[in-house]
Amino acid sequence: MSANGFRLVLLGPPGAGKGTQAALLVQHFAVPHVSTGEILRSEVSRGSDLGGQARKYMDKGELVPDQIMLGIIRERLAQVDCASGVLLDGFPRSLPQAAGLEAIFGAERVPMRAVSLEVPSSEIVRRLSGRRTCRACGAMYHVTFGPPTKEGICDRCGGELYQRDDDREDIVQARLEVYRKETEPLMAFYRERSVLRSVDGTGPSKDVFRRVVAELEAVPA
Ligand code: AMP
Repeated sequence: MSANGFRLVLLGPPGAGKGTQAALLVQHFAVPHVSTGEILRSEVSRGSDLGGQARKYMDKGELVPDQIMLGIIRERLAQVDCASGVLLDGFPRSLPQAAGLEAIFGAERVPMRAVSLEVPSSEIVRRLSGRRTCRACGAMYHVTFGPPTKEGICDRCGGELYQRDDDREDIVQARLEVYRKETEPLMAFYRERSVLRSVDGTGPSKDVFRRVVAELEAVPA
């Protein structure tokens, strides 16, 4: 499949493996990876006004308001690297965001696909509480299931690994609740538009990747 017109939304609860699969998929399809969580975390670490506003919500596991998110995504998608395709990770997360995205894409009549990674919630909590993230490049590891070669150090860039504040177990529960209430309705939204594919997100990430690619390549562009 060519990258031309390839617009993919990755859906699934926090910890379903969206970031991991996104990293593999953008290589395979040669499209930019747009992660709204990454954009927000970099605003927080830069100490920008936007970062200051977003942090209040992120620390509690809540969604940053739709108007702020739509502003961020509109600006990002207008950049030249997104002209022929993009992989969205962590956006949309609510029905108003999905409707806003449809309005942004709609005018261009470019086909869009949505892939939902299915992982049971018991597995999600286990995954998130052991997750470690690289401060420098955003790469993700798991203390048990995918540890770095050297503890606390990123294999890819040598950066420092840390536990995101919102990966603490109490915040994980809040994020899962927000997911069920705000984000799960997107499944029906995309199913109605016949663009949703569900993929088993359990097991080794390479196997999940193969399943995602098979689903995407089975759909005519
Ligand atoms: P993530 O890295 O995708 O898990 O995002 C981390 C946090 O950033 C979320 O828990 C939200 O507080 C915020 N966030 C990221 N993307 C969005 C979005 N599309 N809408 C609202 N909040 C978001």
